[in-house]
Amino acid sequence: MKYALVNGVKTAPSPNLIGVCSCCKQPVIAKCGIIKVWHWAHASLNNCDNWWESETDWHREWKSHFPVENQEIVHTDPFNGEKHIADIKLVNGIVIEFQNSPIKPEEISSRERFYNTMIWVINGKGFEHHFTIKHKLPSHKSTTVKNCRIHYNKYGNKIEICDVLKNGRYHEYSLLHIQEFLDNYDDSRMYSYQWNYERKSWRYAKKIKLIDFGNDYLYQLMHYNDSFECVKLWSKREFIERALNPRK
Ligand SMILES: [Zn+2]
Repeated sequence: MKYALVNGVKTAPSPNLIGVCSCCKQPVIAKCGIIKVWHWAHASLNNCDNWWESETDWHREWKSHFPVENQEIVHTDPFNGEKHIADIKLVNGIVIEFQNSPIKPEEISSRERFYNTMIWVINGKGFEHHFTIKHKLPSHKSTTVKNCRIHYNKYGNKIEICDVLKNGRYHEYSLLHIQEFLDNYDDSRMYSYQWNYERKSWRYAKKIKLIDFGNDYLYQLMHYNDSFECVKLWSKREFIERALNPRK
């Protein structure tokens, strides 16, 4: 954990500091070594939250974009008293979970039931070389491409024909021209993709799933026109700004 309570105040670890876990209220010790990121660990060796994964620089980098009061928020189930620590809880109640390691479908479902309104941010660094962005797809709402008919194979990987109504006539475009056309005239941020050695457990996630490959974008896993799978790109800056100002 990045925070524990020291004299009732949410505090980051520093050498020789002892605090109390904000979730189970048991003693925690500041671990300030040179290999792992500085963190708080339970004195009893047992972490009270079995969903908690050991924290990486990646977690810390993400959390640092949010105010301290939104980080590591304890959630309690009002019916059975079960407690977990959400990575981020926004003012509007939405929880953001940053997931670094592979996760079982059962745990995905449990967490989604527990937090209900939540977003997953998945660290894609471990599989970025198995994930290939293929073709830009036309936006659903774009008026520019409303007369554009594009055909895909069942995986959404190949665009075959495109006719664009221009001066009352349909023009046929080659594959290259279709891509140029979409790049220049369509503000769609959706792309088909191929994911080899897919982490299939994420298919069980019903909430918003965003993959972070370490560049300036987040790749939302979704379906195109309720058919094949695609990704929608969000700039990280836009995502953080919208999360911090949910009414904008
Ligand atoms: Zn605890």
